[in-house]
Amino acid sequence: MARSTPAIVILGQGSLDTARQIQRLYPDSLIHGLAERVEGADRVYHEFGATLRQLYQQDTPIIALCAAGIVIRTLAPLLLEKGAEPPVLAVAEDGSAVVPLLGGLGGVNVMAREIAAGLGVAAAITTSGELRFGTCLLNPPSGYALGDLELGKRFVSDLLGGESVRIEGAAPWLAAAKLPENDQARLTIRVGSAEREPVANELLIYPRSVLVACRGQRLAGEADSDLATHIRQALHQARIAVQSVACLLAADRDMADRALHQAAAQLGVPLRFLPAADSVAELAQQAVPQLLPPLKVGEDIAIAVASQPLDPEQIGRPRGRLAVIGLGPGAAELMVPAVKAELARANDILGYETYVRMAGPFRADQVMHCTDNREEMQRARHAFELAAQGRSVVVVSSGDPGVFAMAAAVIEALHESSDPAWHSVDLEILPGVSASLATAAQAGAPLGHDFCVLSLSDNLKPWDIIEKRLDLASQADLALAFYNPISRSRPWQLGRALEIVRQHRTPQTPVVLGRDIGRPGQTLRVITLGELTPEQVDMRTMVLVGSSTTCVFPRAGGGDWVYTPRWYGNKPL
Ligand code: SAH
Repeated sequence: MARSTPAIVILGQGSLDTARQIQRLYPDSLIHGLAERVEGADRVYHEFGATLRQLYQQDTPIIALCAAGIVIRTLAPLLLEKGAEPPVLAVAEDGSAVVPLLGGLGGVNVMAREIAAGLGVAAAITTSGELRFGTCLLNPPSGYALGDLELGKRFVSDLLGGESVRIEGAAPWLAAAKLPENDQARLTIRVGSAEREPVANELLIYPRSVLVACRGQRLAGEADSDLATHIRQALHQARIAVQSVACLLAADRDMADRALHQAAAQLGVPLRFLPAADSVAELAQQAVPQLLPPLKVGEDIAIAVASQPLDPEQIGRPRGRLAVIGLGPGAAELMVPAVKAELARANDILGYETYVRMAGPFRADQVMHCTDNREEMQRARHAFELAAQGRSVVVVSSGDPGVFAMAAAVIEALHESSDPAWHSVDLEILPGVSASLATAAQAGAPLGHDFCVLSLSDNLKPWDIIEKRLDLASQADLALAFYNPISRSRPWQLGRALEIVRQHRTPQTPVVLGRDIGRPGQTLRVITLGELTPEQVDMRTMVLVGSSTTCVFPRAGGGDWVYTPRWYGNKPL
């Protein structure tokens, strides 16, 4: 598998030069610097442990410029869990030592050598097989898959014990290795796509040279897990190893087919698409014309074998993805991890310029499309056009994308479209912490009981509707959260809104004003409805108005706590 872009993590300013040197070897990588210690990093983090663990769990290769011990202690709790094991390296701050720590099967030694060569030092390789043979036999290059890891370990230890080995099949990368080759050897490295029973004296390596073309629609009625089983059976009938499968291929019209996606996930291979052909066999032939004739195993599945490993990236195209994400109010630690992962995988990032900048920085290979805040529908359609080409697209909103933001516009654009390519896009909405909730949390719990969320903007709805809702919500004694409370083009609306609220609430009603919450220079003020004037509010402010039960009391250290109790009428015992 292709290695993903590493993250370079540094703790102090003194490491930045070494980090930049390493970055030149991996141009798409980002340098993550500790807040207040490092200036000029690409990304700022606040907590070393949490940052490292998150990168690790997202399977991101890690190059940490600090003591090996710190890295080990930080990741130790994760090592017993099954799951991702990306390459992890410790590099001395001054670039004088490169120590591969984890991810032997993910190519950590290859990276250690690359970095060491870049820094002009030697890598601290400690893997015996690697030292002796100059390559890790258990980590074949991309395009090849190891048959069985446990048997493989035994095989390598036999080799280290002094046995010789013979190679059957094409293994071009082993030509440079220093293996004790002998035609009569008992130990055999066998490279080929045929299915084989694993035996102790063989190291099986499968070239990923097999393409499985399948139809999704017809199987959709059956249990979703069935397609993977059908594929396994078909491969078995054809005596082809499942490890040799490079990818699944299907027709564009099956792009949203659940069974297909589940089968690809179960087999651990990518799923690619081409325009429909007359049969699955023809589909396979169109994908890779130089394939050996497809072994047609059924109406729904055709298997084709190439003489070389296949690169799935070169076959058809993937299903496009469109994620509408919420950044939260602004602070990095209030962004949900799924959103961070989505930003890391995105090809294209669309949104209002301020929010796109807030979501960044991005790698050189990621394309930013910044637009004006008012062009929502146009931006939504642009996002679908990009995703329908097979790209991974992110549309950013602040706070939550479903709260006066892009999610509704994106889904509306889809509803209005009859283009099957748009409807086939893998569309997902990833939530964020909305401004009302972030503000409420800082003040205590002013929204702790029933509340009503309103945008005071009459750009997209008539003002009389807003007045009516304000009147009824105030009458119903709901706490109120006002988004878009005021702007230069809407100067009088907030004053009018407060007149309506004051008809139902006393001047003592607590009011919370949160400005730029979670962003630099944030302010939080607790006042009363009687004191509130529109001049205290701007378009970066969240206005929370309490209900008749909302209380305020001083907090130790200054300021106030505000809360609305969960009971109403009679306090429970
Ligand atoms: N989707 C966003 C809201 C967009 S509407 C969310 O869920 O938070 C924009 C309005 O949200 C602003 O006019 C302001 O009232 C409020 N807002 C957004 N971010 C804010 C922040 N960090 N602090 C205070 N108010 C904010």
